[in-house]
Amino acid sequence: MVKNKPVYSFEEADSKKRMLLGGKGAGLSEMTRLKLPVPVGFTITTEVCTKYYDKNKKLPKDVMPAVMKNIAKMEKKTGKKWNSIKNPLLVSVRSGAATSMPGMMDTILNLGLNEKTVEGLAEQTKNPRFSWDSYRRFIQLFGKVVFGVKDEKFDYILDEVKKKQGIQDDSKLNVESLKTIVLEYKKICEKHTKRKFPDTPDEQLVLAIEAVFKSWMGERAIVYREKNNITKDIANGTAVNIVAMVFGNMGDDSATGVVFTRNGHNGKKEMEGEYLINAQGEDVVAGVRTGKSIELLKKDMPKLYKELSIACKKLEKHFKEPQDIEFTIEQGKFYLLQTRTAKMSAGALVKTSVDMVREKLIDKNRALTRIPAQQLEALLHRTMDESKIKDFKQLAKGIAASPGAASGIVVFDVNKAIELGNTGKKIILVRKETKPEDVPAFFSSEGILTSLGGKSSHAAIVSRGMGKPCIVGCPELKIDYDKNIGMANGMTIKEGDTITIDGSEGTVFIGQIPTIEPKVTKDFEQILDWSQKIKTLGIRANADTPDGAVLARKFGAKGIGLCRTERMFNGSDRINLFVEMIMAENIEERSKILKKLGQLQKSDFIEILKAMEGYEVTIRLLDPPLHEFLPNPEELVEKIQKLKAIGSANEADQAEIVLKRAKELAEINPMMGHRGVRVGITYPEIYEMQIRAVFEALVELTKKKVKAHPQIMIPQISSIAELNHIKKTYDIIKKETEKKHKMKLKINFGTMIEVVRAALTAEELASTAEFFSFGTNDLTQGTFSFSREDVEGKFLPEYMEKELLERNPFQSIDVTGVGSLIKMGIAAGRGVRPNMEVGICGEHGGDPSSIKFCHGEGLTYVSASPHRIPIAIVAAAQAAIEQPKKVRKSRK
Ligand code: ADP
Ligand code: MG
Ligand code: MG
Repeated sequence: MVKNKPVYSFEEADSKKRMLLGGKGAGLSEMTRLKLPVPVGFTITTEVCTKYYDKNKKLPKDVMPAVMKNIAKMEKKTGKKWNSIKNPLLVSVRSGAATSMPGMMDTILNLGLNEKTVEGLAEQTKNPRFSWDSYRRFIQLFGKVVFGVKDEKFDYILDEVKKKQGIQDDSKLNVESLKTIVLEYKKICEKHTKRKFPDTPDEQLVLAIEAVFKSWMGERAIVYREKNNITKDIANGTAVNIVAMVFGNMGDDSATGVVFTRNGHNGKKEMEGEYLINAQGEDVVAGVRTGKSIELLKKDMPKLYKELSIACKKLEKHFKEPQDIEFTIEQGKFYLLQTRTAKMSAGALVKTSVDMVREKLIDKNRALTRIPAQQLEALLHRTMDESKIKDFKQLAKGIAASPGAASGIVVFDVNKAIELGNTGKKIILVRKETKPEDVPAFFSSEGILTSLGGKSSHAAIVSRGMGKPCIVGCPELKIDYDKNIGMANGMTIKEGDTITIDGSEGTVFIGQIPTIEPKVTKDFEQILDWSQKIKTLGIRANADTPDGAVLARKFGAKGIGLCRTERMFNGSDRINLFVEMIMAENIEERSKILKKLGQLQKSDFIEILKAMEGYEVTIRLLDPPLHEFLPNPEELVEKIQKLKAIGSANEADQAEIVLKRAKELAEINPMMGHRGVRVGITYPEIYEMQIRAVFEALVELTKKKVKAHPQIMIPQISSIAELNHIKKTYDIIKKETEKKHKMKLKINFGTMIEVVRAALTAEELASTAEFFSFGTNDLTQGTFSFSREDVEGKFLPEYMEKELLERNPFQSIDVTGVGSLIKMGIAAGRGVRPNMEVGICGEHGGDPSSIKFCHGEGLTYVSASPHRIPIAIVAAAQAAIEQPKKVRKSRK
């Protein structure tokens, strides 16, 4: 491998090497090659940055000599001289990592000015005002970036001087004032550092380069990388770009601005941006002065407007992406200072993708792959009206668990929420945590807010499945059920107060912020249509209700990969029946209740299967431990005390019985306890009832000529013995039903693979199981021995901060660990049954990077919650485009 040089001029750099040159450096060199007007300059590579840190924050020896050689080249090209009194060469020293981190790192302008060169510049340009203005800007930026002096200190001086001169606008400062400012600014720096302000350009340059490298590890930059998941393989260190200064502050024939080649909010094909006459770059970016809208440039400087539009077109055509451009006009001459792929809203991404295909600028594959699938989420949910947010107070911020915005009145009590919800009130259910028994209240609420729990807590998963906004893990919110209040950041909310939650951001506001309805635009439909045609991976839904099934199908799901039967017991008309079943003292009583439940299940199955006619519907038998359906013992104790206090002895006795049962059923580690097939084995009548309901539903639908494809799936299997035990029941019921109705009934019988032992013994399981479905939530728990509900709120964030984990394994499949088990399972299963249907259900089914893994491993399908279906479809198409060779069979 050829060793990289520490420094490359814009002409010689290979602009494809973004990791090495950073985005800004690569863009500048590419524009130079395209013969666009870019000031001369060069890039110190990101490798130097890494070495700088390796060497304990010292520049490697070869760097400054290479830098000075390039400065000499700049002198030649510009005809200006470094540290010259007559014609000084000034430069900017700019940060720029491989991925853009706007405003997160530092840049210094006008470097090379000192007491002598400032006079030279004044003399040469015959414009002392400009020269001294540049000098004061330099000292402020340098003082701030290199020495860490706070802006306020400089601003204080600036304001004082402006007051004295009797002006408001910076651009009106006269030379006298500017000289005073320079003097005072230097004093501030010298007081801060206790040393003389560095005067030679050489000294300034080294300090500036090091400061830019340091800004890579500045707090802003670190937080930004964390929030945006910018890992080392995406950007490793910043480059430093040294660019000859061009001046937008040389008078009224000069200007500076930023422009998007297409509208970044709605994607329309129009330039969008701002500019300022007689100003320097950072004025626009930092919003020191409010810019003028870019259309006005047409009138202000028609010739330059034209040059700008031509440059925009040329850059778009070249990069095949809308660009975000910085430009400066120096005395009527146009310069480009930066170009990068424009960051756009999800809506704009979709529109520009479709438009650019129509314009023949890009092909469909490119149109699909350029959209970060995750971002589409924003198009599928209600959002807060951004322009209104500033009028409201933020109460708290938690973990964004289920996207979308909702407003409603605060209700802490589950029953009250149901009661008020039924009267048509809009409710936000606010709880410490939620349990399955609280689910009926979810249906009656607009959104859910819990102070505890992580992204995969009960509240989060259930809300996501329902498409309801939800925020969890909001520890600053202290809830007091007794007083019916919640407190956070010195504010109190009580029952009946209106709040707005944004489940995409995790923010809670006091009051009602107007929200905006999502709509699937024609352009979005086009993207989904193209994706459906390209993808090979099947997309099914996690749906537990007929409504969910209808919604999922509308969004493009072809089948249900996970129908959780226990969710059906949570309807307000059923939960009591289910509790009665648990409380039943003998098998006769239990059977009676189960019969009723069986009827309800059957009718639900019929509706769901109808909604998914023609596609597989995988029905999972009861999974959670029984005690999850009973009220929380602590709450029961409280209730009993209250009942006794008011003299309701009878009711108190009833509650005592429930409490006793709840205590009996309680487990220390319920996730690894009496659940799934283990309940099915110890209470055989429950699974019998469920299996029979599926068969009966199929009979009824077959009679009506509805093409139903139910499949029965057993959760928590760890051995073939367990699976065969249930299979016997299945066989008996199948035979009985076929005989009773005189028809052949085909219902695939399969298993979840979510226990590590199941993955290890997949070959054995495949002798009985006709399909596998990887339950990646539990499988991840088991593989890491992480209790998901605990770790997400406790140490996981710190693990990610300390880079012990790159991603949350509950959101994105841990490819090396859990992924290996999945690979083993697939190979073992398909070794026995070559075309075996293998899918995943679990939160990962809607995660784009997990979807890419699933495509690569040849899974038949992924199953995701209804609102994530469009995202999954696009991600699957992207996977097919990126890894085209895998061919697999699936009912698409
Ligand atoms: P950021 O990444 O924060 O935008 P930049 O390095 O792009 O920082 O610089 C900040 C501002 O200074 C931008 O508006 C840029 O256009 C301007 N700028 C940078 N270098 C020069 C230069 N050599 N001449 C004129 N303006 C410049
Ligand atoms: Mg910039
Ligand atoms: Mg599970």
